[in-house]
Amino acid sequence: MKYDPARNIQELSQFGEFGGVNPSITDSSTYTFLEAKTMIDTFEGHAPGCFLYSRHWNPTNKYLADAMAAMEGTQSAWVTGSGMAAITCALLQMCNSGDHIVTSVTTYGGTYAFLKNYLPKFNISVSFVNISDLDSVKAAIKPNTKLIYTETMTNPLLQISDIPALSEIAKRNNIKLVVDNTFTPMIVSPYRLGADVVVYSLTKFVNGKNDCVAGAICADEDFINSLSNVNDGTAMLLGPVLDPMRSSSILKNIHTLHLRMKQHSKNAIYLAEKFKEIGLKVNYPGLAEHKDYELFKKIMNPQFGFGGMIAIDLETSEKANKLMEAMQEAGVGYLAVSLGYFKTLFSNSGKSTSSEVPEETQKEMGLSPGLIRFSVGLDNDIENTFELIKDCLKK
Ligand code: PLP
Repeated sequence: MKYDPARNIQELSQFGEFGGVNPSITDSSTYTFLEAKTMIDTFEGHAPGCFLYSRHWNPTNKYLADAMAAMEGTQSAWVTGSGMAAITCALLQMCNSGDHIVTSVTTYGGTYAFLKNYLPKFNISVSFVNISDLDSVKAAIKPNTKLIYTETMTNPLLQISDIPALSEIAKRNNIKLVVDNTFTPMIVSPYRLGADVVVYSLTKFVNGKNDCVAGAICADEDFINSLSNVNDGTAMLLGPVLDPMRSSSILKNIHTLHLRMKQHSKNAIYLAEKFKEIGLKVNYPGLAEHKDYELFKKIMNPQFGFGGMIAIDLETSEKANKLMEAMQEAGVGYLAVSLGYFKTLFSNSGKSTSSEVPEETQKEMGLSPGLIRFSVGLDNDIENTFELIKDCLKK
């Protein structure tokens, strides 16, 4: 049977305190105990269902975490105050001083900077590879390698990671596979394809409103429990907890995610085909000529389309800037970083969300200075949007 992450979310029974159709918001940082022993048991992790302190767990965050786990098909999940908090907590929980990580060289710029500039402070070394070249992934693994890290659809080159093959490599070497699925929620279910830990920036498609930053870590129960352990849990001790007011609003938005992903995908494939028709250099993994098209088809849950992200290459950042300014003025969308919003957003990746990646590395990985990354919005009249873009291109 086809895996249906939307159905898993719909089947959740989550109610408010007085039978409210939305779960109540627990607006408390601390919790009372009727008996002192229960408090001791909770500190020791032996009192399931009891809440201790909201940096450890908050009931509203638990509802959102349960929805994320349902979507991914994991036993459990944890929600964080940002996508970077999810990534950094997951990696710091898994790695010790002296360990090594193999990562895709193309990742979100903040992730790249964390791996390249921050982890060496803790004596954790990182090898950067082309994640599509499985031989180079294998060759980079050393006796002290703890994990392979990648994004399902890489930012901003829109390469598709072969998650089943990477999982097999990880298993053969007794290491873990961590996947950032921010660009492709519902479209791809990495845990079901063999990833051990799936991380998200909920800031993007999952929330879809650009009104907050948030993140999530989805994995088995033992890993999620280890994150919140009072003695050595990275999430508990570094404390990047999500505010329950935000959890509540993100949870409501998750229930429309399947519809939004379908519309983002529908609009994006329309624009990608039109861009191709007028001779633009376009990168969209839903086009048959994309090098990972067949792989994407093999690993995706097909009912949600190929996603809302497109990249076009105008060769120079000057041309890219001119087009972006014209598109903003014409009402196509906003010149802004981030993605997954109901309006179209566009940015010149080399000088924005990938600016942490040195220029030589950008060149080596094939990131053109003229690349414009589009996060295609939910426009009801995408034909009109294309006409607006075409006018801007003429200018
Ligand atoms: N992962 C990806 C693929 C991203 O694009 C981003 C942000 O742009 C992040 C993680 C970081 O998420 P946040 O900004 O919520 O910390």
